[in-house]
Amino acid sequence: MRANLPAGLADTLEGARAEAVIRACVHCGMCNAVCPTFQLTGDELDGPRGRIYLMKGALEGEAVSAETRLHLDRCLECRACETACPSGVEYHRLLDIGRPFVEARVGRPWRERVTRTLIRWVSVEPARFAAALALGRAFAWALPKRLRGKLPQRPPSSPEPAKPTAGARMTLLAGCVQAAAAPQFNAAAQRVFARIGVDLAEAPTAGCCGAVSFHLDAPQEARAFARRNIDAWTRQLDAGAEAVVVTASGCAAFIKDYPDLLAGDPLYAEKARRIAAAVRDPVEVLAGAPLVAVRAPAHPCIAVHDPCTLRNGLKLGGQVAALLVRLGLEPQTPRDAHLCCGSAGPYALTQPAFAGALRANKLAVLTEQAPSAICTANIGCWMHLAETSPVPVRHWLEAVDEVT
Ligand code: SF4
Ligand code: SF4
Repeated sequence: MRANLPAGLADTLEGARAEAVIRACVHCGMCNAVCPTFQLTGDELDGPRGRIYLMKGALEGEAVSAETRLHLDRCLECRACETACPSGVEYHRLLDIGRPFVEARVGRPWRERVTRTLIRWVSVEPARFAAALALGRAFAWALPKRLRGKLPQRPPSSPEPAKPTAGARMTLLAGCVQAAAAPQFNAAAQRVFARIGVDLAEAPTAGCCGAVSFHLDAPQEARAFARRNIDAWTRQLDAGAEAVVVTASGCAAFIKDYPDLLAGDPLYAEKARRIAAAVRDPVEVLAGAPLVAVRAPAHPCIAVHDPCTLRNGLKLGGQVAALLVRLGLEPQTPRDAHLCCGSAGPYALTQPAFAGALRANKLAVLTEQAPSAICTANIGCWMHLAETSPVPVRHWLEAVDEVT
């Protein structure tokens, strides 16, 4: 597809990047077949090809409206379209440019701006999120039903902490929401990694990866978080840590994109590449490790939900199920696994109708074979699915922890 961006834009890093994505698209429409929002509405403008046209038009100077912004807002950034695209179109790179470009031109109603700022403010600091969670639980009776349902289940009492191994060292992202809502995920990771002789320790000065800020209109805050994390992890790598392990696939996928996020920063561009190369989802480490099952699983049949960020962002689809099989579990892979569950970071809060419809579809296929639980790899999917799931939802590391 030809792009004719105005000179002032075409000459910039973002303009060149957008133009490369647009040019790669041959408008075949194969991506529409896998797009969750296109499947919901059947509207070309709620599919990737239509959105590419919308963003191309906007960047070329055509008129944009609140309707344009709405179709872009509805995109989950699940990247299923990228996985299906025969031309290798990196759709999300265009969306990261086109969405804020359109928003800057048409604005956003004040209610939405306040909501988005509030979600961001609460989410990015674990202490704030923990305080909001405690308040929410204490006054759950006073919350609207929609918000009450979003309170995550309380963490289970954790088994013993991992014992130090004096073996290899890797650093572990504590994160923001996960640190407050589901500390059991990282605790399970530490115990499992200790069994293969790896000590996992959280870097004290690292924090939120920046994904929430980036997707809620605060790219500069996202860059500040990225620089802080890069500094923290560079110190860890320099001191001998072998990798940066991230138990939330959404955060890992975002950190893999730090080089793009900081491409215009001469001080951090190279450091960002080093960190992106060091990031590992736990399944990447464990797949090749001598981890063995020492007990039979109490409930072997579990449905596996590969988050979009694991499948399309990190390209690790199917690896969790393969590891679980090796450890004596009986993972169930659902039909239409490529379709997003509707979580997509803050999407569940900003687009509740679409998020709810996608979750209902996802839970229907995940529970088709009567699993004892659903396991996932991302905090956002965990919270979103658990809200209405008829069976417990867990991180897959918890299942691995129980049998090894
Ligand atoms: S599948 Fe790829 S090339 Fe075809 S329309 Fe979609 S983005 Fe463009
Ligand atoms: S990222 Fe997902 S929701 Fe957005 S256009 Fe691509 S397939 Fe559709």
